[in-house]
Amino acid sequence: MNEQNASNHADQELVAYPEGTMEKLISLSKRKGFIYQGSEIYGGLAGTWDYGPLGVALKNNIQNLWWKRFVLDREDMYGIDAAILMNQDVWKASGHVAGFADPLVEDLKTKKRYRADHLLEDYVEKTGDEKAHPKGLTLQQMDALIKEKGIKSPEGNPLGDVRQFNMMLQTSVGAIQDDSSVSYLRPETAQGMFVNFKNVVDSFHPKLPFGLAQVGKAFRNEIAPRDFIFRVRELEQMEIEYFVRPNDWRESFDYFQNEQKDFLINTLGLDASKIHQVEIPESDRAHYSKHSVDHEFDFPFGQKELLGLAYRTDFDLNAHTTASKVDLSYFDESEEDATKKRFIPHCIEPTFGLGRLLLAVMANAYREDTLGGEPRAYMKFSPKIAPILVAVSPLLKNKPQLVEKAREIFNTLRKVFPGRVAFDDNGNIGKRYRRQDEIGTPFCVVIDFDTVEATDESGAAKLDANGIALLNTVTVRHRDTGEQERVTIDKLKEMLVASVE
Ligand code: ATP
Repeated sequence: MNEQNASNHADQELVAYPEGTMEKLISLSKRKGFIYQGSEIYGGLAGTWDYGPLGVALKNNIQNLWWKRFVLDREDMYGIDAAILMNQDVWKASGHVAGFADPLVEDLKTKKRYRADHLLEDYVEKTGDEKAHPKGLTLQQMDALIKEKGIKSPEGNPLGDVRQFNMMLQTSVGAIQDDSSVSYLRPETAQGMFVNFKNVVDSFHPKLPFGLAQVGKAFRNEIAPRDFIFRVRELEQMEIEYFVRPNDWRESFDYFQNEQKDFLINTLGLDASKIHQVEIPESDRAHYSKHSVDHEFDFPFGQKELLGLAYRTDFDLNAHTTASKVDLSYFDESEEDATKKRFIPHCIEPTFGLGRLLLAVMANAYREDTLGGEPRAYMKFSPKIAPILVAVSPLLKNKPQLVEKAREIFNTLRKVFPGRVAFDDNGNIGKRYRRQDEIGTPFCVVIDFDTVEATDESGAAKLDANGIALLNTVTVRHRDTGEQERVTIDKLKEMLVASVE
């Protein structure tokens, strides 16, 4: 274990999730419309999940912030959206047909399959025997360890030998099924960028360093999907392939390592103490990587990979140049030495799993406390990513002047924050607050008689304690503290805009 790892494990004690956080999150996700089991009415399909209205909103907010930060706000990044289905030769050249595999072991009685490294991890957790840790072990070493320790399947049955299992989901394209019709649902979005490298260079003539960025679905036939949306078979990735001069790789690598951490903490609002940068030993690195640092996160079920960062060298562009016979080298006009003008750039790949980020955000946000003498559960989402930023309510739903004003404010705010403003007139105000707390809405705005009436029954002007007119002011209630304040409608807009900046 290197020093970085050692300190990471020490940090773990700081984490405190309320008991049963995962079960509560899964239940809240279904009840409130964040995430549903895939194909639920047919008993589900393992490793697939469907996003409901609030889940889509949260996911889009995370994705849009990512796209803004890494693509829109930069001049060196080019967005693309490549097809999921690709020529099978792409996956042969990239090494995925031969090498995109996990260690699999079979229960000899039930024939159920498990990941050998996961069984070893479970064994370490149960027994505390750190010598059985699978990190960095080869297939043969894992096999020997399982036999030496007498590890059985979760059902208590003997296990077979550890074998490689290719995780690509294969399909067939076209009416005739033969070897030439084989295709795969892409296991990573990255290859869509490598095969379009020349297209983008020819269209835009970017100067090095520059990157291609893409958000999209990827598919992996995981042996053991688990931990809700953490390990799924249909996933979404947000990836960057950043091309550099060979000697400059380290600088860009370090830069993106910091960028990833900063995105997690300052954009998504994750607790810094739950984030760990872990250098991956050579034996655990993907076949294309010469240096990898993962960002791991303290999920309620343990410290696990959240994001990856890999130095892919010139592996992919080289492999595609050889296999496709299309020259994917780069012509560097600024290079004075003519012999160095043409070369294959090297590549740094920061990769972000969108579903895992969403799960980290949800787990990080889940809170239980007591407010007004009553227990409550709420989601402490940052205003930047909360599915609903503000809920607007008339104090009473049977008073037309209140409803009309509330609708007017709702429509005004909706123009500033499309899709992030809710109109809520169901039940009493206390219930509305609790409902909005549960889905993580940072602000509730209430329109009452003071908002719409300039004078009281005696004809006197309605003023607050400082003698300021209450007309056109609203009550803003803050989710985390339950505190309320009275603000003008103009101030309300300013306050909301500031909260998402
Ligand atoms: P793991 O070791 O957890 O299987 P990996 O190292 O294979 O992950 P990468 O190939 O680096 O993952 O993929 C990039 C990112 O895609 C990961 O950091 C993660 O956020 C996400 N990801 C990968 N596999 C899955 C999956 N099965 N379900 C959800 N997200 C995934």
